[in-house]
Amino acid sequence: MSRDYAGLTDPNAEYTMRDLSSSAMGLGADRGPRDVEITDVQTTMVDGNFPWTLVRVYTDAGVVGTGEAYWGAGVPELIERMTPFVVGENPLDIDRLYEHLIQKMSGEGSVEGVTVTAISGIEVALHDLAGKLLEVPAYQLLGGKYRDEMRVYCDCHTEAEADPEACADEAERVVEELGYDALKFDLDVPSGHEKDRANRHLRPGEIRHKAEIVERVTERVRDRADVAFDCHWTFSASSAKRLAAAIEEYDVWWLEDPVPPENLAVQESVTESTLTPIAVGENRYRVTELRRLIEDGAVDIVAPDMPKVGGMRETRKIADVANQYYVPVAMHNVASPVGTMASAQIGAAISNALAVEYHSYELPWWGDLVEGTVIENGSIEIPEEPGLGVTLDLDAVAEHMVAGETLFDPA
Ligand code: MG
Repeated sequence: MSRDYAGLTDPNAEYTMRDLSSSAMGLGADRGPRDVEITDVQTTMVDGNFPWTLVRVYTDAGVVGTGEAYWGAGVPELIERMTPFVVGENPLDIDRLYEHLIQKMSGEGSVEGVTVTAISGIEVALHDLAGKLLEVPAYQLLGGKYRDEMRVYCDCHTEAEADPEACADEAERVVEELGYDALKFDLDVPSGHEKDRANRHLRPGEIRHKAEIVERVTERVRDRADVAFDCHWTFSASSAKRLAAAIEEYDVWWLEDPVPPENLAVQESVTESTLTPIAVGENRYRVTELRRLIEDGAVDIVAPDMPKVGGMRETRKIADVANQYYVPVAMHNVASPVGTMASAQIGAAISNALAVEYHSYELPWWGDLVEGTVIENGSIEIPEEPGLGVTLDLDAVAEHMVAGETLFDPA
């Protein structure tokens, strides 16, 4: 008879369910996960192609959760400011602690921008921590798994970003040598036809040049890869509509952020005007903002940035709203392997995930920050280890820290 069977059925058995989970975690016979308290939160910034803000939540059980916040001025200071609000709390109550931080910071003046980004970093670390305490992968905390591997799309760059043939050559290289079947290129690149970029109007030669980039890249890779194109909020409403119409025949994966982000009615009119799928979302916060984009029909594909938008459960909520409108989710991501794996864990747990972005293929040590391999052949295998399933290599973190940063305390 197995020990847990005995524990469940025999009132005189030596072991109970709680004893079992306690001993498995090494917490001791008298302590279960509900007895664990947060003792500290620390940050260390890594000097990547973005300043990655790594976050660690410490407990009195010696179990540590690791997360990441999107970069932003003041994020480490905000996390330090919030630390007293979670010290002494049980780390399993992720929703309660998230709402607690939102409420406390609302009283201090903000529930948007870098405040939400800072809360996101703590929230991600809590998923790693809760997964370790309960001995389940993070995707299980989010409701289980739709897929064992998460598709990754590669954000591509070339030295000659305005040369359509150079873009096609780079697409070919990334598909054949790096193994990706999903790519993104920038389309807000100079064409030589610009007169005045401040007015956001695209001249005919600019439209033709952008369409040529799209044509060369998509025709080069054809069915070997899906290709998206990013405009970084650059163009006027009419120019965005003309551009989206001009590239309809190439059946791109999506056209991202063609107009500035503030005016939802304009966003909706652009999206409604074209068969080219329009993706928007990376510079909005929380489900309250993303919900409006989705409900107003302003997006064909929603693109939240998980360690910025509010964290893992907030991204899950956004995906749930999107799913009610049959809108897929492509997760914007410029994070280290920690944030990237956290996004992949969400991707595993939602039905409507398209892909997670990878934005560091030009940085050879990106993967060194954690033990093992994260991205392989354009895909992330979802780990079965407890929590996020990635372990920081603290020597690598120390080697690449932003000047003046202090390494995390040991667990
Ligand atoms: Mg973008």
